[in-house]
Amino acid sequence: MRVGIGYDIHALKKGRKLLLGGVHVPHTSGLSGHSDGDVLLHAVVDALLGAAGLGDIGEYFSDTDPRWKGAASSFFAERTLAMLKKKKLSIRNIDTVVIAERPKLGGHKGNIQRSVARIFGLGIGDVNVKAKTNEGLGPVGEGKAIAAMAVVALQKI
Ligand code: MG
Repeated sequence: MRVGIGYDIHALKKGRKLLLGGVHVPHTSGLSGHSDGDVLLHAVVDALLGAAGLGDIGEYFSDTDPRWKGAASSFFAERTLAMLKKKKLSIRNIDTVVIAERPKLGGHKGNIQRSVARIFGLGIGDVNVKAKTNEGLGPVGEGKAIAAMAVVALQKI
C-alpha cells in the first residue's frame, strides 16, 4: 500500500465557470487558472502522483504550457491514471476536503463524489468528499478562493 497527499488553492474570478470534481456548481464566479481551475481534481491528481512517487502536477501539466490552456482537468486525471497503470498501481480509495466559504457545497457533495468516482474509475464507496468552510478566515474565508485537500491510497495490481 502506498499513500499520497495533495493540496491546491485557486482564486475565484467573475466570468469563470465553477468546476469542482468535474461538476459544474452554480455560483457568481469560478476558479481562475490556466486549465479549467478544478481545484479538487488538481489536489487528487497531486495526491496520486505523490503516492506513485511520480513528483507533482506541475511537472506534467505546467500552468505555463500553452497545451494546457483551458484544458479540462479530467484530462489530467486520465493521463495520471495511465501513468499509474504503467507502474502497475491501482487506486484503493480517495478521501478529499473542499474548503469554500461560498457557495455552500453541502447539496453538491453527492454529485461531486459520483463525478470523482467516475473520473478515476472507482466505486462510489471508494471516494469520499467533505465540504468545510474556513470559518471566515483568510482568502478562502473571505470568499476569494477555494482550496482542496486529498489523500489517496494505491495498491499494486
Ligand atoms: Mg491547480
